[in-house]
Amino acid sequence: MTTMTTTAIQHFINGQVTAGESAQSQDVFNPATGRVTGRVSLASPADVNTAVAAAQAAFPAWADTPPIRRARVMFKFLELLNAHKDELAEAITKEHGKVFTDAQGEVARGIDIVEFACGIPQLLKGDYTEQVSTGIDNWTTRQPLGVVAGITPFNFPAMVPMWMFPLAIAAGNTFILKPSPLDPSASLLMADLLKQAGLPDGVFNVVQGDKDSVEALIDHPHVKALSFVGSTPIANLIYERGARNGKRILGGAKNHMVVMPDAHLDKAVDALIGAAYGSAGERCMAISVAVLVGDVADKVVPALAERAKALKVKDGMQLDAEMGPIVTRQAHQRITGYIEKGVAEGAELVVDGRDFNASEAGDECAEGFWMGGTLFDNVTPEMTIYKEEIFGPVLVCVRVPDIATAIQLINDHEFGNGVSCFTESGTVAREFGRRIQVGMVGINVPIPVPMAWHGFGGWKRSLFGDTHAYGEEGVRFYTKQKSIMQRWSDSIDAGAEFVMPTAK
Ligand code: NAD
Repeated sequence: MTTMTTTAIQHFINGQVTAGESAQSQDVFNPATGRVTGRVSLASPADVNTAVAAAQAAFPAWADTPPIRRARVMFKFLELLNAHKDELAEAITKEHGKVFTDAQGEVARGIDIVEFACGIPQLLKGDYTEQVSTGIDNWTTRQPLGVVAGITPFNFPAMVPMWMFPLAIAAGNTFILKPSPLDPSASLLMADLLKQAGLPDGVFNVVQGDKDSVEALIDHPHVKALSFVGSTPIANLIYERGARNGKRILGGAKNHMVVMPDAHLDKAVDALIGAAYGSAGERCMAISVAVLVGDVADKVVPALAERAKALKVKDGMQLDAEMGPIVTRQAHQRITGYIEKGVAEGAELVVDGRDFNASEAGDECAEGFWMGGTLFDNVTPEMTIYKEEIFGPVLVCVRVPDIATAIQLINDHEFGNGVSCFTESGTVAREFGRRIQVGMVGINVPIPVPMAWHGFGGWKRSLFGDTHAYGEEGVRFYTKQKSIMQRWSDSIDAGAEFVMPTAK
Protein backbone atom coordinates (compact mmCIF):
# COMPACT_ATOMS: atom_id res chain seq x y z
CA MET A 1 0.00 0.00 0.00
CA THR A 2 1.28 3.50 -0.85
CA THR A 3 2.21 5.72 2.10
CA MET A 4 0.34 9.00 1.88
CA THR A 5 1.26 12.27 3.52
CA THR A 6 -1.62 14.00 5.23
CA THR A 7 -2.06 17.74 5.64
CA ALA A 8 -2.94 19.48 8.89
CA ILE A 9 -5.96 21.69 8.17
CA GLN A 10 -6.20 24.39 10.82
CA HIS A 11 -8.05 27.57 11.70
CA PHE A 12 -7.47 31.06 10.28
CA ILE A 13 -7.76 33.64 13.00
CA ASN A 14 -6.64 37.26 12.95
CA GLY A 15 -4.85 36.82 9.64
CA GLN A 16 -2.87 33.73 10.72
CA VAL A 17 -3.25 30.01 10.23
CA THR A 18 -3.29 28.59 13.74
CA ALA A 19 -3.66 25.19 15.39
CA GLY A 20 -5.80 26.59 18.20
CA GLU A 21 -5.80 25.16 21.66
CA SER A 22 -8.09 22.18 21.15
CA ALA A 23 -6.42 18.81 20.77
CA GLN A 24 -9.37 17.44 18.83
CA SER A 25 -9.23 16.71 15.12
CA GLN A 26 -10.72 14.36 12.54
CA ASP A 27 -9.69 12.72 9.28
CA VAL A 28 -10.42 14.27 5.91
CA PHE A 29 -10.83 11.80 3.03
CA ASN A 30 -10.49 11.80 -0.70
CA PRO A 31 -13.81 10.05 -1.42
CA ALA A 32 -12.55 8.81 -4.81
CA THR A 33 -9.81 6.68 -3.24
CA GLY A 34 -11.22 6.31 0.26
CA ARG A 35 -7.84 7.45 1.62
CA VAL A 36 -7.16 9.93 4.39
CA THR A 37 -5.57 13.07 2.94
CA GLY A 38 -5.72 15.44 5.87
CA ARG A 39 -6.57 15.95 9.47
CA VAL A 40 -8.79 18.90 10.34
CA SER A 41 -8.65 20.60 13.75
CA LEU A 42 -11.94 20.81 15.63
CA ALA A 43 -12.23 24.06 17.55
CA SER A 44 -13.07 24.21 21.23
CA PRO A 45 -15.28 26.98 22.65
CA ALA A 46 -12.03 28.72 23.68
CA ASP A 47 -10.88 28.74 20.02
CA VAL A 48 -14.25 30.22 19.04
CA ASN A 49 -13.77 32.91 21.70
CA THR A 50 -10.35 33.76 20.26
CA ALA A 51 -11.84 34.13 16.79
CA VAL A 52 -14.75 36.26 18.02
CA ALA A 53 -12.35 38.49 19.98
CA ALA A 54 -10.22 39.00 16.84
CA ALA A 55 -13.31 39.79 14.77
CA GLN A 56 -14.61 42.15 17.42
CA ALA A 57 -11.31 44.01 17.60
CA ALA A 58 -11.24 44.40 13.81
CA PHE A 59 -14.84 45.61 13.56
CA PRO A 60 -14.69 49.36 14.43
CA ALA A 61 -11.98 50.26 11.91
CA TRP A 62 -13.49 48.06 9.17
CA ALA A 63 -16.99 49.44 9.71
CA ASP A 64 -15.55 52.96 9.45
CA THR A 65 -13.72 52.21 6.22
CA PRO A 66 -15.60 53.94 3.38
CA PRO A 67 -17.68 51.44 1.37
CA ILE A 68 -15.79 52.26 -1.81
CA ARG A 69 -12.53 51.19 -0.15
CA ARG A 70 -14.13 48.01 1.15
CA ALA A 71 -15.35 47.42 -2.41
CA ARG A 72 -11.79 47.82 -3.70
CA VAL A 73 -10.66 44.95 -1.47
CA MET A 74 -13.50 42.88 -2.95
CA PHE A 75 -12.37 43.80 -6.48
CA LYS A 76 -8.84 42.64 -5.66
CA PHE A 77 -10.25 39.43 -4.11
CA LEU A 78 -12.28 38.90 -7.28
CA GLU A 79 -9.15 39.25 -9.41
CA LEU A 80 -7.28 36.75 -7.21
CA LEU A 81 -10.20 34.31 -7.18
CA ASN A 82 -10.27 34.37 -10.97
CA ALA A 83 -6.54 33.72 -11.06
CA HIS A 84 -6.81 30.79 -8.60
CA LYS A 85 -10.22 29.37 -9.47
CA ASP A 86 -8.92 26.05 -10.79
CA GLU A 87 -6.80 25.53 -7.67
CA LEU A 88 -9.93 26.05 -5.59
CA ALA A 89 -11.95 23.70 -7.82
CA GLU A 90 -9.28 21.01 -7.52
CA ALA A 91 -9.28 21.27 -3.71
CA ILE A 92 -13.08 20.83 -3.79
CA THR A 93 -12.92 17.76 -6.06
CA LYS A 94 -10.28 16.13 -3.88
CA GLU A 95 -12.28 16.45 -0.66
CA HIS A 96 -15.91 16.50 -1.84
CA GLY A 97 -15.59 14.17 -4.85
CA LYS A 98 -17.70 16.19 -7.31
CA VAL A 99 -16.27 16.22 -10.82
CA PHE A 100 -13.75 18.96 -11.56
CA THR A 101 -15.90 20.74 -14.16
CA ASP A 102 -18.77 20.83 -11.65
CA ALA A 103 -16.41 22.22 -9.00
CA GLN A 104 -15.38 24.90 -11.52
CA GLY A 105 -19.08 25.75 -11.91
CA GLU A 106 -19.46 26.00 -8.14
CA VAL A 107 -16.55 28.44 -7.92
CA ALA A 108 -17.97 30.47 -10.83
CA ARG A 109 -21.35 30.83 -9.06
CA GLY A 110 -19.51 32.00 -5.92
CA ILE A 111 -17.57 34.53 -7.99
CA ASP A 112 -20.89 35.97 -9.24
CA ILE A 113 -21.67 36.98 -5.67
CA VAL A 114 -18.27 38.55 -5.11
CA GLU A 115 -18.98 40.61 -8.24
CA PHE A 116 -22.33 41.64 -6.75
CA ALA A 117 -20.61 42.56 -3.45
CA CYS A 118 -18.25 44.87 -5.38
CA GLY A 119 -21.31 47.11 -5.88
CA ILE A 120 -21.70 47.64 -2.12
CA PRO A 121 -21.54 51.48 -2.20
CA GLN A 122 -24.66 51.48 -4.36
CA LEU A 123 -26.36 48.78 -2.24
CA LEU A 124 -25.80 50.70 1.01
CA LYS A 125 -26.90 54.05 -0.38
CA GLY A 126 -30.13 54.40 1.56
CA ASP A 127 -33.12 56.64 0.83
CA TYR A 128 -33.52 60.36 1.34
CA THR A 129 -36.64 62.49 1.46
CA GLU A 130 -36.26 66.22 1.51
CA GLN A 131 -38.92 68.23 3.32
CA VAL A 132 -40.93 65.49 5.06
CA SER A 133 -42.27 68.43 7.03
CA THR A 134 -41.39 72.09 6.67
CA GLY A 135 -37.65 72.39 7.24
CA ILE A 136 -37.24 68.70 8.08
CA ASP A 137 -35.47 66.02 6.05
CA ASN A 138 -35.53 62.28 6.70
CA TRP A 139 -33.16 59.60 5.45
CA THR A 140 -32.37 55.96 6.05
CA THR A 141 -28.97 54.33 6.10
CA ARG A 142 -27.90 50.71 6.50
CA GLN A 143 -25.17 50.01 9.02
CA PRO A 144 -23.22 46.81 9.69
CA LEU A 145 -24.10 44.58 12.64
CA GLY A 146 -20.69 43.68 14.05
CA VAL A 147 -19.31 40.14 14.22
CA VAL A 148 -21.39 37.75 12.13
CA ALA A 149 -20.95 34.03 11.53
CA GLY A 150 -21.69 31.54 8.76
CA ILE A 151 -22.04 27.78 9.17
CA THR A 152 -21.89 25.91 5.90
CA PRO A 153 -22.56 22.39 4.56
CA PHE A 154 -20.19 20.00 2.83
CA ASN A 155 -21.90 20.07 -0.54
CA PHE A 156 -20.70 23.53 -1.65
CA PRO A 157 -17.52 24.26 0.31
CA ALA A 158 -16.74 27.42 -1.70
CA MET A 159 -20.05 28.66 -3.12
CA VAL A 160 -22.21 28.57 0.03
CA PRO A 161 -19.57 30.45 2.10
CA MET A 162 -19.54 32.95 -0.76
CA TRP A 163 -23.32 33.32 -0.42
CA MET A 164 -22.43 34.84 2.93
CA PHE A 165 -19.05 36.42 3.56
CA PRO A 166 -18.55 38.70 0.51
CA LEU A 167 -21.71 40.69 1.26
CA ALA A 168 -21.24 40.53 5.02
CA ILE A 169 -17.70 41.88 4.79
CA ALA A 170 -18.42 44.41 2.06
CA ALA A 171 -21.25 45.76 4.24
CA GLY A 172 -18.70 46.44 7.02
CA ASN A 173 -19.12 43.40 9.28
CA THR A 174 -16.39 41.07 10.43
CA PHE A 175 -16.96 37.40 9.74
CA ILE A 176 -16.37 33.94 11.18
CA LEU A 177 -16.80 31.00 8.82
CA LYS A 178 -17.38 27.53 10.25
CA PRO A 179 -17.12 25.22 7.23
CA SER A 180 -18.00 21.55 7.08
CA PRO A 181 -15.17 19.40 8.46
CA LEU A 182 -15.67 16.99 5.55
CA ASP A 183 -14.10 19.36 2.98
CA PRO A 184 -12.44 22.20 4.90
CA SER A 185 -9.53 23.16 2.60
CA ALA A 186 -11.43 25.56 0.32
CA SER A 187 -12.08 27.84 3.30
CA LEU A 188 -8.36 28.32 3.92
CA LEU A 189 -7.61 28.98 0.26
CA MET A 190 -10.27 31.73 0.27
CA ALA A 191 -8.88 33.14 3.55
CA ASP A 192 -5.43 33.34 1.98
CA LEU A 193 -6.77 35.15 -1.11
CA LEU A 194 -8.66 37.64 1.08
CA LYS A 195 -5.45 38.36 2.99
CA GLN A 196 -3.53 38.82 -0.26
CA ALA A 197 -6.32 41.18 -1.40
CA GLY A 198 -5.47 43.45 1.52
CA LEU A 199 -8.31 42.58 3.89
CA PRO A 200 -7.25 43.68 7.39
CA ASP A 201 -6.50 40.90 9.87
CA GLY A 202 -9.50 39.79 11.92
CA VAL A 203 -12.12 40.80 9.35
CA PHE A 204 -12.41 37.23 7.99
CA ASN A 205 -11.73 34.24 10.22
CA VAL A 206 -12.19 30.50 9.79
CA VAL A 207 -12.93 28.22 12.69
CA GLN A 208 -12.83 24.55 11.74
CA GLY A 209 -15.07 22.26 13.72
CA ASP A 210 -18.42 20.65 14.16
CA LYS A 211 -21.25 20.68 16.72
CA ASP A 212 -19.26 22.21 19.64
CA SER A 213 -17.99 25.17 17.65
CA VAL A 214 -21.43 25.78 16.16
CA GLU A 215 -23.01 25.86 19.59
CA ALA A 216 -20.28 28.19 20.87
CA LEU A 217 -20.99 30.54 17.96
CA ILE A 218 -24.76 30.42 18.47
CA ASP A 219 -24.46 31.19 22.16
CA HIS A 220 -21.74 33.82 21.89
CA PRO A 221 -23.12 37.20 22.96
CA HIS A 222 -20.89 39.11 20.51
CA VAL A 223 -22.00 37.18 17.44
CA LYS A 224 -24.75 39.40 16.12
CA ALA A 225 -26.10 37.29 13.26
CA LEU A 226 -25.75 33.75 12.13
CA SER A 227 -26.39 32.21 8.73
CA PHE A 228 -26.69 28.46 8.55
CA VAL A 229 -27.02 26.25 5.50
CA GLY A 230 -27.41 22.53 6.04
CA SER A 231 -29.88 19.75 6.64
CA THR A 232 -33.33 20.51 8.03
CA PRO A 233 -32.98 18.67 11.39
CA ILE A 234 -29.81 20.63 12.25
CA ALA A 235 -31.31 23.83 10.81
CA ASN A 236 -34.28 23.39 13.11
CA LEU A 237 -32.05 22.93 16.17
CA ILE A 238 -29.95 25.94 15.30
CA TYR A 239 -32.98 28.07 14.52
CA GLU A 240 -34.53 27.37 17.90
CA ARG A 241 -31.31 27.81 19.83
CA GLY A 242 -30.21 30.82 17.81
CA ALA A 243 -33.49 32.70 17.66
CA ARG A 244 -32.28 35.38 20.01
CA ASN A 245 -29.11 35.99 17.99
CA GLY A 246 -30.61 36.68 14.59
CA LYS A 247 -30.48 33.93 12.01
CA ARG A 248 -30.92 33.06 8.42
CA ILE A 249 -31.25 29.34 8.12
CA LEU A 250 -31.47 27.34 4.90
CA GLY A 251 -32.48 23.73 5.36
CA GLY A 252 -32.94 20.56 3.35
CA ALA A 253 -34.83 19.87 0.18
CA LYS A 254 -36.71 17.45 -2.04
CA ASN A 255 -37.03 19.01 -5.45
CA HIS A 256 -39.57 17.94 -8.05
CA MET A 257 -39.49 18.28 -11.80
CA VAL A 258 -42.81 18.00 -13.63
CA VAL A 259 -42.76 16.72 -17.20
CA MET A 260 -45.90 17.59 -19.16
CA PRO A 261 -47.05 15.58 -22.21
CA ASP A 262 -46.34 18.59 -24.45
CA ALA A 263 -42.75 18.98 -23.20
CA HIS A 264 -39.77 18.42 -25.45
CA LEU A 265 -39.10 14.96 -24.04
CA ASP A 266 -35.47 14.52 -25.11
CA LYS A 267 -34.60 17.82 -23.45
CA ALA A 268 -36.60 16.90 -20.35
CA VAL A 269 -34.67 13.62 -20.08
CA ASP A 270 -31.33 15.44 -20.48
CA ALA A 271 -32.40 17.86 -17.75
CA LEU A 272 -33.48 15.08 -15.37
CA ILE A 273 -30.27 13.12 -15.83
CA GLY A 274 -28.03 16.15 -15.20
CA ALA A 275 -30.07 17.52 -12.31
CA ALA A 276 -30.54 14.17 -10.53
CA TYR A 277 -27.07 12.68 -10.89
CA GLY A 278 -24.83 15.77 -11.25
CA SER A 279 -22.69 16.15 -8.11
CA ALA A 280 -23.97 12.65 -7.18
CA GLY A 281 -27.30 14.25 -6.23
CA GLU A 282 -25.58 16.05 -3.33
CA ARG A 283 -27.06 19.44 -4.16
CA CYS A 284 -29.85 21.13 -2.27
CA MET A 285 -31.28 22.01 -5.70
CA ALA A 286 -30.82 18.53 -7.21
CA ILE A 287 -33.94 17.09 -8.78
CA SER A 288 -34.78 13.94 -6.86
CA VAL A 289 -38.42 13.45 -7.96
CA ALA A 290 -39.66 13.28 -11.56
CA VAL A 291 -43.40 13.93 -11.69
CA LEU A 292 -44.52 12.38 -14.95
CA VAL A 293 -47.89 13.61 -16.19
CA GLY A 294 -50.29 11.52 -18.31
CA ASP A 295 -48.61 8.97 -20.52
CA VAL A 296 -45.14 10.57 -20.63
CA ALA A 297 -43.81 8.00 -18.14
CA ASP A 298 -43.99 5.27 -20.79
CA LYS A 299 -41.44 7.16 -22.88
CA VAL A 300 -39.45 8.98 -20.19
CA VAL A 301 -38.73 6.10 -17.78
CA PRO A 302 -37.06 3.81 -20.39
CA ALA A 303 -35.02 6.76 -21.68
CA LEU A 304 -33.93 7.67 -18.13
CA ALA A 305 -33.01 4.04 -17.43
CA GLU A 306 -30.81 3.84 -20.49
CA ARG A 307 -29.06 7.11 -19.61
CA ALA A 308 -28.64 6.28 -15.91
CA LYS A 309 -26.92 3.00 -16.82
CA ALA A 310 -24.60 4.83 -19.23
CA LEU A 311 -23.50 7.56 -16.77
CA LYS A 312 -19.73 8.12 -16.76
CA VAL A 313 -19.08 7.56 -13.07
CA LYS A 314 -15.40 8.36 -12.61
CA ASP A 315 -12.77 10.02 -10.52
CA GLY A 316 -13.73 13.69 -10.73
CA MET A 317 -10.33 14.80 -12.00
CA GLN A 318 -10.97 12.89 -15.26
CA LEU A 319 -12.41 15.52 -17.55
CA ASP A 320 -15.11 13.35 -19.13
CA ALA A 321 -16.49 12.30 -15.70
CA GLU A 322 -20.19 13.03 -15.24
CA MET A 323 -20.58 11.83 -11.67
CA GLY A 324 -18.03 11.38 -8.89
CA PRO A 325 -18.11 9.43 -5.62
CA ILE A 326 -20.31 9.94 -2.57
CA VAL A 327 -18.76 12.25 0.00
CA THR A 328 -18.25 9.77 2.87
CA ARG A 329 -18.61 6.10 3.68
CA GLN A 330 -21.43 7.01 6.11
CA ALA A 331 -23.34 8.92 3.41
CA HIS A 332 -22.85 5.94 1.08
CA GLN A 333 -24.37 3.65 3.73
CA ARG A 334 -27.29 6.05 4.29
CA ILE A 335 -28.10 6.18 0.56
CA THR A 336 -27.83 2.39 0.25
CA GLY A 337 -30.25 2.11 3.18
CA TYR A 338 -32.77 4.31 1.33
CA ILE A 339 -32.51 2.12 -1.78
CA GLU A 340 -33.23 -0.97 0.36
CA LYS A 341 -36.18 0.81 1.93
CA GLY A 342 -37.57 1.80 -1.47
CA VAL A 343 -37.52 -1.84 -2.56
CA ALA A 344 -39.07 -2.99 0.74
CA GLU A 345 -41.87 -0.43 0.45
CA GLY A 346 -42.80 -1.64 -3.04
CA ALA A 347 -41.25 0.90 -5.41
CA GLU A 348 -40.03 -0.49 -8.73
CA LEU A 349 -36.23 -0.46 -8.85
CA VAL A 350 -35.43 0.18 -12.51
CA VAL A 351 -31.69 0.87 -12.22
CA ASP A 352 -29.73 -0.16 -9.13
CA GLY A 353 -26.70 2.05 -8.46
CA ARG A 354 -25.44 -0.42 -5.85
CA ASP A 355 -24.32 -2.67 -8.73
CA PHE A 356 -21.57 -0.22 -9.69
CA ASN A 357 -18.06 -1.66 -9.46
CA ALA A 358 -15.72 0.89 -7.80
CA SER A 359 -12.64 -0.20 -9.72
CA GLU A 360 -14.35 1.00 -12.94
CA ALA A 361 -14.13 4.57 -11.61
CA GLY A 362 -10.38 4.84 -12.17
CA ASP A 363 -6.99 3.83 -10.87
CA GLU A 364 -6.85 3.56 -7.09
CA CYS A 365 -10.62 3.94 -6.74
CA ALA A 366 -11.40 0.43 -5.51
CA GLU A 367 -11.65 1.58 -1.88
CA GLY A 368 -13.53 4.82 -2.66
CA PHE A 369 -17.15 5.62 -1.82
CA TRP A 370 -18.70 4.76 -5.17
CA MET A 371 -22.14 3.96 -6.49
CA GLY A 372 -23.92 4.41 -9.81
CA GLY A 373 -27.16 6.27 -10.50
CA THR A 374 -30.34 4.66 -9.13
CA LEU A 375 -33.79 5.01 -10.71
CA PHE A 376 -37.11 4.08 -9.13
CA ASP A 377 -40.50 4.06 -10.88
CA ASN A 378 -44.06 3.87 -9.51
CA VAL A 379 -43.13 5.67 -6.33
CA THR A 380 -46.06 6.91 -4.23
CA PRO A 381 -46.27 9.80 -1.75
CA GLU A 382 -46.39 7.56 1.36
CA MET A 383 -43.02 5.96 0.61
CA THR A 384 -39.96 7.02 2.61
CA ILE A 385 -37.92 7.52 -0.57
CA TYR A 386 -40.52 10.08 -1.66
CA LYS A 387 -40.87 11.87 1.66
CA GLU A 388 -37.28 12.17 2.87
CA GLU A 389 -34.22 13.88 1.46
CA ILE A 390 -31.86 11.11 0.29
CA PHE A 391 -29.08 13.49 -0.82
CA GLY A 392 -27.54 11.02 -3.23
CA PRO A 393 -27.83 9.86 -6.87
CA VAL A 394 -31.33 8.42 -6.57
CA LEU A 395 -34.13 9.65 -8.85
CA VAL A 396 -37.69 8.60 -8.07
CA CYS A 397 -40.53 8.78 -10.61
CA VAL A 398 -44.10 9.50 -9.52
CA ARG A 399 -46.86 9.10 -12.12
CA VAL A 400 -49.79 11.55 -11.98
CA PRO A 401 -52.80 12.02 -14.28
CA ASP A 402 -52.72 15.81 -14.73
CA ILE A 403 -51.03 19.10 -13.82
CA ALA A 404 -53.47 19.84 -10.98
CA THR A 405 -52.47 16.59 -9.24
CA ALA A 406 -48.80 17.38 -9.86
CA ILE A 407 -49.15 20.82 -8.24
CA GLN A 408 -51.07 19.40 -5.28
CA LEU A 409 -48.46 16.68 -4.75
CA ILE A 410 -45.62 19.21 -4.69
CA ASN A 411 -47.51 21.66 -2.49
CA ASP A 412 -48.20 18.92 0.04
CA HIS A 413 -44.50 18.07 0.43
CA GLU A 414 -42.81 19.44 3.55
CA PHE A 415 -39.88 20.87 1.56
CA GLY A 416 -40.14 23.74 -0.89
CA ASN A 417 -36.66 24.62 -2.10
CA GLY A 418 -36.59 24.33 -5.91
CA VAL A 419 -38.98 22.99 -8.53
CA SER A 420 -39.13 22.76 -12.27
CA CYS A 421 -41.78 22.28 -14.94
CA PHE A 422 -41.01 21.18 -18.49
CA THR A 423 -43.75 22.25 -20.88
CA GLU A 424 -44.22 24.08 -24.17
CA SER A 425 -47.48 25.66 -22.92
CA GLY A 426 -47.38 29.26 -21.72
CA THR A 427 -50.65 28.76 -19.85
CA VAL A 428 -49.36 25.76 -17.90
CA ALA A 429 -46.09 27.57 -17.18
CA ARG A 430 -47.85 30.67 -15.89
CA GLU A 431 -50.31 28.76 -13.69
CA PHE A 432 -47.51 26.54 -12.38
CA GLY A 433 -45.37 29.56 -11.49
CA ARG A 434 -48.26 31.22 -9.67
CA ARG A 435 -49.68 28.26 -7.77
CA ILE A 436 -46.64 26.28 -6.74
CA GLN A 437 -45.63 26.62 -3.06
CA VAL A 438 -41.88 26.55 -3.65
CA GLY A 439 -39.32 29.36 -3.38
CA MET A 440 -37.34 28.87 -6.61
CA VAL A 441 -39.14 27.87 -9.80
CA GLY A 442 -37.74 26.85 -13.18
CA ILE A 443 -39.74 26.68 -16.40
CA ASN A 444 -37.75 24.36 -18.65
CA VAL A 445 -34.84 25.11 -16.29
CA PRO A 446 -34.05 22.11 -14.06
CA ILE A 447 -31.90 23.82 -11.40
CA PRO A 448 -33.19 27.37 -11.07
CA VAL A 449 -30.55 28.75 -8.66
CA PRO A 450 -31.18 32.51 -8.80
CA MET A 451 -28.39 34.77 -9.96
CA ALA A 452 -26.28 36.75 -7.49
CA TRP A 453 -28.52 39.83 -7.47
CA HIS A 454 -31.84 37.94 -7.10
CA GLY A 455 -31.29 36.07 -3.82
CA PHE A 456 -31.61 32.37 -2.95
CA GLY A 457 -34.21 30.87 -0.67
CA GLY A 458 -36.75 28.06 -0.44
CA TRP A 459 -40.12 27.94 1.29
CA LYS A 460 -41.66 25.67 3.94
CA ARG A 461 -39.11 23.50 5.79
CA SER A 462 -36.36 24.46 3.36
CA LEU A 463 -35.95 27.88 4.99
CA PHE A 464 -36.32 29.06 8.57
CA GLY A 465 -36.71 32.75 9.24
CA ASP A 466 -37.69 34.87 6.28
CA THR A 467 -34.60 36.37 4.71
CA HIS A 468 -33.10 34.80 1.60
CA ALA A 469 -29.40 34.44 0.95
CA TYR A 470 -27.43 36.99 -1.14
CA GLY A 471 -28.92 39.60 -3.46
CA GLU A 472 -30.55 42.61 -1.81
CA GLU A 473 -32.02 40.37 0.91
CA GLY A 474 -28.44 39.41 1.80
CA VAL A 475 -27.53 43.06 2.20
CA ARG A 476 -30.56 43.58 4.45
CA PHE A 477 -29.65 40.52 6.53
CA TYR A 478 -26.15 41.78 7.26
CA THR A 479 -27.13 45.37 8.03
CA LYS A 480 -29.60 47.22 10.17
CA GLN A 481 -31.57 50.16 8.98
CA LYS A 482 -31.37 53.48 10.74
CA SER A 483 -33.68 56.39 10.07
CA ILE A 484 -32.41 59.91 10.73
CA MET A 485 -34.69 62.95 10.83
CA GLN A 486 -33.04 66.33 10.89
CA ARG A 487 -33.93 70.01 11.15
CA TRP A 488 -32.01 73.18 12.02
CA SER A 489 -32.93 76.02 14.36
CA ASP A 490 -34.37 78.34 11.65
CA SER A 491 -37.25 75.90 11.16
CA ILE A 492 -37.89 75.16 14.83
CA ASP A 493 -40.87 77.06 16.30
CA ALA A 494 -40.44 78.38 19.81
CA GLY A 495 -42.30 76.50 22.56
CA ALA A 496 -42.75 72.90 23.57
CA GLU A 497 -44.94 70.63 21.43
CA PHE A 498 -47.17 68.18 23.28
CA VAL A 499 -48.99 66.63 20.34
CA MET A 500 -47.84 63.83 18.05
CA PRO A 501 -45.73 65.54 15.39
CA THR A 502 -47.32 65.56 11.93
CA ALA A 503 -46.21 67.02 8.61
CA LYS A 504 -46.64 70.78 8.52
P1 NAD B 1 -25.38 19.17 7.98
O1 NAD B 1 -26.67 19.73 8.48
O2 NAD B 1 -24.95 17.83 8.42
O3 NAD B 1 -24.17 20.15 8.34
C1 NAD B 1 -24.23 21.54 8.08
C2 NAD B 1 -23.31 22.27 9.06
O4 NAD B 1 -23.78 22.04 10.40
C3 NAD B 1 -21.87 21.78 9.02
O5 NAD B 1 -21.03 22.91 9.14
C4 NAD B 1 -21.77 20.86 10.24
O6 NAD B 1 -20.46 20.82 10.75
C5 NAD B 1 -22.74 21.49 11.22
N1 NAD B 1 -23.37 20.52 12.13
C6 NAD B 1 -23.57 19.20 11.91
N2 NAD B 1 -24.19 18.64 12.97
C7 NAD B 1 -24.41 19.62 13.86
C8 NAD B 1 -25.04 19.68 15.15
N3 NAD B 1 -25.56 18.61 15.73
N4 NAD B 1 -25.11 20.87 15.77
C9 NAD B 1 -24.61 21.96 15.20
N5 NAD B 1 -24.00 21.97 13.98
C10 NAD B 1 -23.91 20.82 13.32
O7 NAD B 1 -25.48 19.25 6.38
P2 NAD B 1 -24.48 18.65 5.32
O8 NAD B 1 -24.66 17.17 5.27
O9 NAD B 1 -23.12 19.22 5.48
O10 NAD B 1 -25.07 19.30 3.97
C11 NAD B 1 -26.11 18.74 3.24
C12 NAD B 1 -27.46 19.33 3.65
O11 NAD B 1 -27.45 20.73 3.45
C13 NAD B 1 -28.61 18.80 2.81
O12 NAD B 1 -29.72 18.59 3.64
C14 NAD B 1 -28.89 19.94 1.84
O13 NAD B 1 -30.21 19.99 1.32
C15 NAD B 1 -28.61 21.11 2.71
N6 NAD B 1 -28.30 22.28 1.90
C16 NAD B 1 -29.27 23.22 1.79
C17 NAD B 1 -29.07 24.33 1.01
C18 NAD B 1 -30.15 25.35 0.86
O14 NAD B 1 -29.88 26.37 0.31
N7 NAD B 1 -31.36 25.13 1.33
C19 NAD B 1 -27.84 24.51 0.34
C20 NAD B 1 -26.86 23.53 0.49
C21 NAD B 1 -27.11 22.42 1.29
